[in-house]
Amino acid sequence: MIRFLNSLTRKLEKFEPIDPTGKQVKMYTCGPTVYSFAHIGNFRTYLFEDLLQRHLEARSFMVQRVMNITDVDDKTIRNSRIAGVPLQEFTKQFTEAFFEDMRTLRIKDAQFYPAATEPENIAQMIAMIDELVKKDIAYQAEDGSVYFRINRFAHYGQLAHLDLDELRPSGRVQSDEYEKENLGDFALWKAWDAEDGLVGWDSPWGRGRPGWHIECSAMATRILGPQIDIHCGGVDNLFPHHEAEIAQSESCTGKKFVRYWLHSAHLLVEGQKMSKSLGNFYTIRDLVARGFTGREIRYALLCVNYRLQLNFTFDGMTQARQSLLRIDEWLQRLRDLAGNVAADPAFAPAHSDAFFAALDDDLNISAALAELFEQIRATNRLMDSNQLESGEAAALLQWWQRVNQVLQIQSDEEVVPPEVQQLLEARAASRASKDWQRSDALRAKISELGWFVKDTRDGQKVTKSIK
Ligand code: AMP
Ligand code: ZN
Repeated sequence: MIRFLNSLTRKLEKFEPIDPTGKQVKMYTCGPTVYSFAHIGNFRTYLFEDLLQRHLEARSFMVQRVMNITDVDDKTIRNSRIAGVPLQEFTKQFTEAFFEDMRTLRIKDAQFYPAATEPENIAQMIAMIDELVKKDIAYQAEDGSVYFRINRFAHYGQLAHLDLDELRPSGRVQSDEYEKENLGDFALWKAWDAEDGLVGWDSPWGRGRPGWHIECSAMATRILGPQIDIHCGGVDNLFPHHEAEIAQSESCTGKKFVRYWLHSAHLLVEGQKMSKSLGNFYTIRDLVARGFTGREIRYALLCVNYRLQLNFTFDGMTQARQSLLRIDEWLQRLRDLAGNVAADPAFAPAHSDAFFAALDDDLNISAALAELFEQIRATNRLMDSNQLESGEAAALLQWWQRVNQVLQIQSDEEVVPPEVQQLLEARAASRASKDWQRSDALRAKISELGWFVKDTRDGQKVTKSIK
């Protein structure tokens, strides 16, 4: 039984998807705002979401995941203006960089990566705002912007466990200082102003652009429908972003928007908040430039339970490297012992379900990793005293395949299977004789086997395709 700590109820709840067959899981994950390179804090969140998806799949669920790209908001407009580059061109470079970093970290692709500025998404946003205005839940203020009237949504504040009264202006604040009726009302549509330059869309309320919150409601409901199983993000997204998403979506559809809300705690660097001014701000590229590999970064950002703060340190990176080396050595020993012997079907390795059972418990990755290292310790001991059979080693390697499908931390180098190796050699020969057609055909074959080949100055380099 899988259980998650639901931010909405603050309770550990049994996971049951909406799908009556119990198989399909609809998952929405707030994606990057593409105004600069995403940092390791963002990737901590994306990695927890990857672990979540992969574990659900290990438990035979079929996950349909959407991750949006926020390519229009205050920050993207501001930074593109500073850079003097049109918005689309500006955000494109960071969107591409984001996908590169996702590959580096072996994060599984979502089925959908909708970008806010795509016409079908803008149309959906306008349609939803229009509906809210018609229902008198939204109103256009004197500044031309359209706002959501939070006191028209009875559950507003439920996710953040906030008392609505706290959001009302106190006596000392003159409400006529605000265009909005209520201090907590948030913008659905922002009227164009000179700072927006060429960015804007025509709407029933004049030229303008969507607010960030409606972007996610529109993309989530357009692609996944009115009801989704799991919605995730970092804890900073919880309020007001996710609170607003609930208010907008449920006011439009009349249905409960999300069953389980999962939020990851923030990442700190050497015990401090990560910030450019403190000089402790890192992107994935920064760490790669320091000589860390994608799997090392992945491990270091993944190994702490998502609800706990993760303190990123360079000591921690070194420990991640050592843990991975232990796994590599163990696998090598198992491979040497297993040789070509088939896995012994009667052999059920100890701790084999315990790894997955730990993840069932609100993705308790630290307990799951403890099970893995216990398995390594126990089987190394058996191998030390020649008590592990070849067929048992092969069975352990099979178990590892299942574990690694979730963790994605296996080293790429040493596991090129012989059939891929043969194809690589044939390809090297065809390239030497300038038979490019054959070389391309062999690349396609290698790719069919799940490997990606790159030609470098030092010859062919092969990496596992990310699944
Ligand atoms: P943004 O690009 O700012 O919209 O953020 C993308 C995702 O990263 C959101 O889910 C945020 O909650 C998350 N996030 C931002 N900063 C951190 C951090 N320091 N630690 C963990 N997650 C973060
Ligand atoms: Zn969002």
